[in-house]
Amino acid sequence: MDFDLFVIGGGSAGVRCGRISAGHGAKVAVAERRFWGGTCVNVGCVPKKLMVQAAEYGAWAEDARGFGWDIDVRGHDWGGLQKAVTAETERLSGIYRKLLDGAGARIFDASAKLIDAHTVEVAGERVSAKHIVIAAGGEAVHPTFPGAEHCLISDALFSMQRKPKSAVVIGGGYIACEFAGILAGLGVETTQIYRGRLFLRGFDPDIREALAGEMRAAGIQLRFDTDVTKVEQAGEGYLVHLTDNAMIEADAVFAAIGRRPATEGLGLEAAGVALRDNGAVLVDEGGRTSVPHIYALGDVTDQANLTPVATGQGHALADTLFGNNPRTISLENIPTAVFTAPPIGTVGLTEDEAAARGEIDVYMSRFKPLRHTITGRERRTLMKLVVDRASQRVLGVHMLGEDAGEILQGFAVAVVMGATKQDFDRTIGIHPSAAEEFVTMRTARPRSVAKAAE
Ligand code: NDP
Repeated sequence: MDFDLFVIGGGSAGVRCGRISAGHGAKVAVAERRFWGGTCVNVGCVPKKLMVQAAEYGAWAEDARGFGWDIDVRGHDWGGLQKAVTAETERLSGIYRKLLDGAGARIFDASAKLIDAHTVEVAGERVSAKHIVIAAGGEAVHPTFPGAEHCLISDALFSMQRKPKSAVVIGGGYIACEFAGILAGLGVETTQIYRGRLFLRGFDPDIREALAGEMRAAGIQLRFDTDVTKVEQAGEGYLVHLTDNAMIEADAVFAAIGRRPATEGLGLEAAGVALRDNGAVLVDEGGRTSVPHIYALGDVTDQANLTPVATGQGHALADTLFGNNPRTISLENIPTAVFTAPPIGTVGLTEDEAAARGEIDVYMSRFKPLRHTITGRERRTLMKLVVDRASQRVLGVHMLGEDAGEILQGFAVAVVMGATKQDFDRTIGIHPSAAEEFVTMRTARPRSVAKAAE
């Protein structure tokens, strides 16, 4: 065999798996056809978060007046922001490549394809490997209605040279909600269209309702229970037709209707690797496919499509194969944040999921953060605990409000450890902070108040 491990895909999962395996002494090769660091670094988490922060600065500058600052916001340099964001993503992408190189892995800047269960074709060579990892990631699903070719996918936001005056965002998932917040925060007239009753299906219903209120208050047009039937070019812009016969004009139309595993062209059939109905690679909890020495990690398996899950899986597999430390990562209680304005942070079960399993107590608090008593901004934070009544174990922690992602990371440790409501209660708060509310909520709210949103 030429290599102990050949990794197809240099994103979060593949780079981590390749780098750690090489560190354990394995002879490793990694192939990446587009950009090192994958979606997260180049057209996902990293540039998205920077653009979220760009949008936040506008609101902060306005709010600063309430604190006595004589600030006049005269506009926003979209091109300057794009340049800064691109410079950072290119820097990070270079670091990813360098890390692999430094660890001694052989790097192929090329697409790779399986010829059979042990042979990979890459950059005109055929190489053999004892173990193979498929970490090819995911790609945006394109809509199919007439005029769908006018729609941009999420990648495009990060290379758009001119700020659109108005935009329509189609979808109600992570990406659509985050994009609506970024665009509106940067001064784009924004409409979000979602086919269901309330966006962010699967998140806690109170959080979803509250976010809709906050987004409307920020000037975003939310149109639920409607869908796009076609998009037409109209002069420089587009006309978006909806199922409720309404029409919206916009300079740009983004479709964020989901992502799918990028399994095409990898030669998986030739190697005998089985796929699920949705095209994702079928794996066991250790990432093993139907071919015992071929593994798949990250978005290509469509389990929990989040960078830390991919890196966690990549590291665990490297330790298992070459580090004499067989282990897997748990897909339970994965904390996550949606970087909307304000953001959502969440870990564990929603109220409805928990109630379906047994008797629960729900604690909820909604308040104006201290900062906004002075800024005058009508923004409220929502915090919620879902507790198993019999064991008093905290099953879910949910927050909508500034710094929710930062706050939830710590609370996720408590939930993973099995903390009870009493453990929360005996923890002293940090005052004055928003987070202290999670350890000072005392009165359970009747379950009947929450309405299932599906
Ligand atoms: P999601 O799967 O989260 O959401 C897709 C949305 O599009 C849903 O609202 C869905 O509606 C809607 N939709 C699906 N098909 C259609 C259709 N044919 N017509 C109209 N609407 C449709 O996908 P995203 O693209 O937002 O994100 C992909 C994944 O990337 C996420 O699930 C997440 O794992 C990851 N991600 C994580 C982020 C984070 O951690 N902050 C940020 C961005 C992405 P319905 O609910 O009715 O099915």
